[in-house]
Amino acid sequence: MSIELDELDTVVQDTVARLYHRYHIQLRTKPLVSSCVVKNLRKSIREINHLDPETILPRARSVIVVAVPHSVDAILRNAREKEIALSYAREYVLLNKVLKQLLHILSNYLRARGYEAAVPEVTLHGTVHSNWSHRYIAYLAGLGTLGKHRLIITKIGCSVRLGTLVTTARVRPSGEPIKEEYCLAKRGIECSACIERCPLNALKNWEKGGREKCFRMLQEVSRTYKKLLKVEEEVDCCGKCMSNLVCSFKPP
Ligand code: SF4
Ligand code: SF4
Repeated sequence: MSIELDELDTVVQDTVARLYHRYHIQLRTKPLVSSCVVKNLRKSIREINHLDPETILPRARSVIVVAVPHSVDAILRNAREKEIALSYAREYVLLNKVLKQLLHILSNYLRARGYEAAVPEVTLHGTVHSNWSHRYIAYLAGLGTLGKHRLIITKIGCSVRLGTLVTTARVRPSGEPIKEEYCLAKRGIECSACIERCPLNALKNWEKGGREKCFRMLQEVSRTYKKLLKVEEEVDCCGKCMSNLVCSFKPP
């Protein structure tokens, strides 16, 4: 038994358009959805020490991944301002809400057709090394390629938020990793704008303490911006390394 990706795409497009309207977020482009087959991704997931989807949902056959876009305005402001722009941080919280609701609606859609579905946490807090990577699954599902900034550059750029869901449904057609590189530096073309943008120089020394520096700063940001925005949700965002770059809104 299988489900068509086009069906899921219709649910994603309708739901995202409605939620962006509800939260007054500019929908600069259509969101993306794809999937990968659990048995195809099991090997590469184990190599990088990630959870097997079947530990999240027994008999899982597919992992569905969605990418929803940040607005142009929030991204440009975040690039312009020295601190993390309040509008970007607010949008980060709202996009997490959009993802949560979208994945809930997709899960219910699948359940109504007789499949099981489970949603891993959209944002994992409290650990530097996550055991579930939305961006790596997005890469495996063919949504884009990984850039020098360690983010995924999708067909709608790197300024997106990602969410995943595991299901017993087989989704057709399933995605495959994209063969070409989207990142300029990875194609041998000079570009290090994302690396230079990091206020902590963390990307230059990612494996030598950069990751930890970034993680600690995001926790600090979350404490500060929760108060500023008067919200309960985590605001563990920075986004400087995805803001107003050559790959922010589309592959360069
Ligand atoms: S800014 Fe340049 S080097 Fe960095 S990810 Fe984008 S294309 Fe690659
Ligand atoms: S999120 Fe911020 S601190 Fe972390 S690597 Fe990107 S620019 Fe640097």
